[in-house]
Amino acid sequence: MDPRVTTDTIGSTLKKARERKAMSLAEVSRVTRIPAGTIDSIEHDRFDDLPGEVFVRGFLKSYAQAVGLQGEEIVARYTSSRRVVLVTPLPTASPVEPVRADRRRFGVAIAFVLLLILFTLALSIVLKPRGHDMPSELSSLTRTTFARRPSSRAPEAVLPRRAGLSAKILKSEALLVRAVPYGDTDIIATLFCAQGGKVSAMARGARKSSKRFGGALDPFHTAEVTLQDRGSDLTTMSEARIVRVRAGIVSRLEAVDAAGVALRWTRDLCPPRTDEPGAWDALVRLLDALDEGKTEPNVELAFFSLRLLTEVGYGLELDQCVVCGKLCPDDRPARIDAARGGIVCLSCGGARFQISAKLRQAARLMQRGTRAIISTDEAQEIMKLAEVAMAAHADVAK
Ligand SMILES: [Zn+2]
Repeated sequence: MDPRVTTDTIGSTLKKARERKAMSLAEVSRVTRIPAGTIDSIEHDRFDDLPGEVFVRGFLKSYAQAVGLQGEEIVARYTSSRRVVLVTPLPTASPVEPVRADRRRFGVAIAFVLLLILFTLALSIVLKPRGHDMPSELSSLTRTTFARRPSSRAPEAVLPRRAGLSAKILKSEALLVRAVPYGDTDIIATLFCAQGGKVSAMARGARKSSKRFGGALDPFHTAEVTLQDRGSDLTTMSEARIVRVRAGIVSRLEAVDAAGVALRWTRDLCPPRTDEPGAWDALVRLLDALDEGKTEPNVELAFFSLRLLTEVGYGLELDQCVVCGKLCPDDRPARIDAARGGIVCLSCGGARFQISAKLRQAARLMQRGTRAIISTDEAQEIMKLAEVAMAAHADVAK
């Protein structure tokens, strides 16, 4: 396949080729001796993060060859895309059919656009002769008219580079629910905070030294974080320290799995910047139980799944039919359609999933935050229900 005719960006072309070859980022890094962070930047088309044009071309060529693409072609695409970024906002004519008339028309169009821009600039100078205001005027015009920078650069624009007086300080206990490397040294952390709920934070320099934030960016431990909040989507982490270590979790694979699933559910179900004290409490109790290791991880996770759903307002209706409201007697099994929110009685069409009377009673208790004794098989049943309910309400990762 000729990579030039795809609509994919250079980064995603390379990434797809890498995935086709089933190579990990680390493997490509080893083969090409390009740092993994740089490969990640390339895959996200963040070329402006990279050291310089000459290096970028070299990187692109080696990366392309490592995943079985033509190095020259990728470099050519990169070169022409840079020219587009710097010169013109026009949609690029497909480079595979270079018709001369088209090219001339293209040239005329460029000249026309340049004239238009010059005219607009001249007009803005005439109309707003405000001396030193000009540079910003000019740059904003350039940005809106020209720039077709990769969208992944966008967060940079809203990042507070320095903590100013206008930043609100947000201090809270927090759990890490996601960490995404950013550039070569930073991490964008998604935190679930006791006060403030789910918040994203830029942790500058977090990858340079794990000591930078006192290990608070390791999962499962409760940290106390200080965030500079300027009201944008992304806050800046200025301090963090661990206040509750849960080393017991990492000593058992099942506990690690359960904790990971719980953090993901929390991340996917909780809305951003909304206090969720009940969900916080449930999550901390789960992690503490997993850390202690005296109980079955899956049973704890099932308990947590029902509590989390209830705390964020998606608790299952386990008493009556969600369609007609008919009460289900305590000693009867029930049909449950978790996507519709609970019991659907047989006269309302029923549901494929049936739950025993005993397990339904246990689930009702657990939804109210009371521990109930269930087997690991029953825990699996509960989690199947909970996952269907979560998928119905949020984009929950598997
Ligand atoms: Zn009904």
